[in-house]
Amino acid sequence: MRPPYFFEIGEIMLLKPHLKLNRITDINMRHLDYLGVDTLLLDVDNTLSTDHGTVLTKGLTEWIERMKNDGIKLVIVSNARKERVRPFAEKLGLKFIGLGLKPLPFGYFRGVRYVSSKRRSTAIVGDQIFTDILGGRLSGVKTILLTPIKLENKFSFKIRRKLEKLVFKIYKIKDFEEKNI
Ligand SMILES: [Mg+2]
Repeated sequence: MRPPYFFEIGEIMLLKPHLKLNRITDINMRHLDYLGVDTLLLDVDNTLSTDHGTVLTKGLTEWIERMKNDGIKLVIVSNARKERVRPFAEKLGLKFIGLGLKPLPFGYFRGVRYVSSKRRSTAIVGDQIFTDILGGRLSGVKTILLTPIKLENKFSFKIRRKLEKLVFKIYKIKDFEEKNI
């Protein structure tokens, strides 16, 4: 038997996404059924668009329409300022929360309430382990990690992305495998 103080980092799930996919537009109903969710909280930077970009990622408008037609509730939860988030929300016809303070759980709770959903039937979709995924785990929603559309140039981001790589190694996170579902 191992001693009680033995620390096995793999058992700590706070940084582990439930699903890892490449782009937001890769998410389909099978993934949502697998997670048991009908509500998605959407990050903006490097999820809907590049970091500080304004162009929607390819196929996003059609994907949003498909999700809406399938009865999926969508709401944007971003850490960016409202002025940055609003144009995306308007273009896509979605409700939004700016200054979400991820990884704190409050923005997630507000997002879930905003579309009258439940945390257990909600997933966050975002590109950062230390904000989107950690916050999702802390607030009790499911978590879908995406590959960032384009890596940031800022030094602080470079460190963050290096740490994420470490987390990938620890959890043996691979891109989504069809056979898992
Ligand atoms: Mg992001």
